[in-house]
Amino acid sequence: MTLHIPTLIAALTLGFLLLALQMGLSRPSWRDQPAMACWVAGNWAMVGGFLALIARAWVPLPLSVLIGNLLLCLGAGLFSQAVWVFVTEQPLPLALRWGWLAAALPILAMLDWPLSQRTSVLSLVYAACLLPAVWLVFRHRAAAERSLLMVGTGFALTVLALVCRAWHAWFHPADYQALTQPSLGQGLTFLAAFLTLMTTGWGFLLAGMERTAQRLEVLATHDGLTGCFNRSTADALLQHELQRGQRDELPVAFVLMDLDHFKHINDNHGHRAGDEALRLFAETVRSRLRASDVFCRLGGEEFGLILPATDEAGARRLAEDILQATRLIGLHGADGQPIEVAFSAGLVVAGSDSRCNADHLYRQADAALYAAKRAGRCQIALAQPASS
Ligand code: GH3
Ligand code: MG
Ligand code: MG
Repeated sequence: MTLHIPTLIAALTLGFLLLALQMGLSRPSWRDQPAMACWVAGNWAMVGGFLALIARAWVPLPLSVLIGNLLLCLGAGLFSQAVWVFVTEQPLPLALRWGWLAAALPILAMLDWPLSQRTSVLSLVYAACLLPAVWLVFRHRAAAERSLLMVGTGFALTVLALVCRAWHAWFHPADYQALTQPSLGQGLTFLAAFLTLMTTGWGFLLAGMERTAQRLEVLATHDGLTGCFNRSTADALLQHELQRGQRDELPVAFVLMDLDHFKHINDNHGHRAGDEALRLFAETVRSRLRASDVFCRLGGEEFGLILPATDEAGARRLAEDILQATRLIGLHGADGQPIEVAFSAGLVVAGSDSRCNADHLYRQADAALYAAKRAGRCQIALAQPASS
């Protein structure tokens, strides 16, 4: 079986070109994803590399070999860099960004070598440029987007194909006398490169969309400042936990907390200090919760705790513990003055046999909270046990 090499090279070049154009055109939506910009640049480098290799029919061979192979190394390096930026969300260290230029030395040294030997060594150089991407994807596979596994697998197979090509070209030089020579080895390599373009290009694009969708979901359900669930999610979760408690015949506790004299913090120390107090308060609460507890920001400086399978004594113990820890938050204003953070809370427990709904529970907790405020703040008041 022999494949028509010029057709495969043309398909590869056009494939990289189309992907670069398509991703480039939708670039505004990728603006917050530098990894995508890096991948687009990698595509352009691949297009340039293949065009430079094809141009050997018109330009001096050493120039075509040097520029073409350097650009292909740059392209492979940029793909690895894109995976690095995507996975770690950090820019690649400057020294590594120029690593692909190291390929210039072997290319210059091999300019007068037979094509088969040059092909063999350069295949290993390309594989080395792609290997970091494979390593990164599989190292982070648990946390990485599922589509990224497609990218890692695609590159792993490419590295394997390149190593086979290196071995084959070295031991079967007759098959590698010219770039477009029709031979099984050449044909399979370019076919593998085309499959890489399809799997990794689309895989990376899908991984980017997967990440955007995840971020949008978090934005829609969480509060940006404190990381707590937002009000609408809290309402749904409270109703859900109540129904589950009724089915499992377990109590559900609800604690409504409102920071005391919070307006004073803003007025005396500025809104930044107020924001910092909210953030530290949320951190303090979160560090004391079980995995099943739900913590939400219901509005300004008002927070809710939904505690499944928790009775009154357990909920009170937790609320008292949080109140003590909150009072120990060591926040200082710009003038060095300590800022006091405390809250009042209303606690209500829906018994395992109660049929009350979320609205009812919320109203009872609210009434208890106001009782705590009236009684002097910085305390927890218990509401009447919630019934239907
Ligand atoms: P009380 O003890 O009776 O609850 O008094 P308070 O001052 O805490 O209550 P009040 O409702 O008078 O004021 C709440 C303040 O919380 C007013 C509002 O500007 C502030 N606030 C609400 N959301 C935020 C926020 O996200 N950041 C900051 N810095 N302040 C906020
Ligand atoms: Mg308040
Ligand atoms: Mg309030």
